[in-house]
Amino acid sequence: MSHDLQGRVALITGGGTGLGLGIATELGLMGAKVAIASRKESNLNCGLTHLRSKNIEALAVQTDVRDANEVAKTVDSVEAHFGPVDILINNAAGNFVVPAEKLSAHGWTSVVETVLNGTFFCSREVGRRLIQQDRHGSIVNIIAAYAWTGGAGTVHSASAKAGVLAMTKTLAVEWAQFGIRVNAVAPGPVETEGASRQLWADPDERRRLLTEIPLNRFGRVEEIAQAVLFLVSNEANFITGSTLTVDGGESLPHAWLPAVNALRNQTS
Ligand code: NAP
Repeated sequence: MSHDLQGRVALITGGGTGLGLGIATELGLMGAKVAIASRKESNLNCGLTHLRSKNIEALAVQTDVRDANEVAKTVDSVEAHFGPVDILINNAAGNFVVPAEKLSAHGWTSVVETVLNGTFFCSREVGRRLIQQDRHGSIVNIIAAYAWTGGAGTVHSASAKAGVLAMTKTLAVEWAQFGIRVNAVAPGPVETEGASRQLWADPDERRRLLTEIPLNRFGRVEEIAQAVLFLVSNEANFITGSTLTVDGGESLPHAWLPAVNALRNQTS
C-alpha cells in the first residue's frame, strides 16, 4: 500500500502540537501539502519548524475553530496558498478532568464549542466548498472511545465527542453522493504533552491508567497518524461513516481479566 497523497491539500486543526502535528507530519511525508491551524502562534511556529525540517510543504494559520467566520477565513488562506482543501482533519480540542458538579459553565462551553462547534464549522466550510467545486474529499474527526461509553471526569469532552460521532455518520450519509467521505479515529490514551499534563500528570494515576489498557502501554502518536493516513488514502475509498478505534483494547470490557489471569496462574 502506497498511501500516496501527492497533489492533495490537507488542513489539520490543532496541527501545531501532539497528535495533530503527528498527523500533519505523516500526511506531509506522503506528499500532501499541509496547513496547520490553531490559536497560539507559539504552537504554530513550533509545528511549522518541525514540518519544514522534514521538507514538507507547510503553512500555519492562526484561528479559533469556535468562530465560524475565522474558520471561513482560514480556509480562504489555505486555498489562496495551496489551492482547494480536500483533506480535513478535525483534531482541535480541549479537555481536563473535573467532577461534573464542579465544572463551570465556561469550562463546559469552551470544550463543547471547540470540539462540537469547531468540528461542524470546519466540516461545513470545507464540505460546502468541495460540493461547489465538484471535488471529492475526505474528512477525519479525532474523537475518543468514551464517545460511546461516556467517561467519568470528562462530561464536557465525552458529550462533545459523542456529538462528533453522530456528526461523522450524519455527514457521511449526506455527503457520500458528492464523493466526500467522513470517518473518525478514536484514540485511547496517547502520550502527548497536552494529554499527559491535563489527564495523567499524577504518577499514581498514570500507573493506574496503564493497568486499564490490555496491551499495557500508551499509544504512540505515529500509530494514530497511520490510522488517519489509511482513512484519507485511496485504499479506504469505500469506507465512510466508520470509526477506527486505536486504543490498545482500553475500551473493551476487561473487568474480569484479573480473575481470569488468577485462574490461569492457578492451573499452570
Ligand atoms: P493537544 O496537544 O493539547 O492538542 C490540542 C490542539 O487543539 C492544540 O494544538 C491546540 O492548539 C488546539 N486547539 C485547542 N483549542 C482550539 C481552538 N479553539 N481553535 C483552534 N485550535 C484549538 O492534545 P492531543 O493529545 O494532541 O489531542 C489531539 C486530539 O486527540 C484531540 O481531539 C483529543 O481529544 C484527541 N484524543 C487524544 C488522546 C490522547 O491521549 N492524547 C486520547 C483520545 C483523544 P492552540 O492551543 O494553539 O489553539
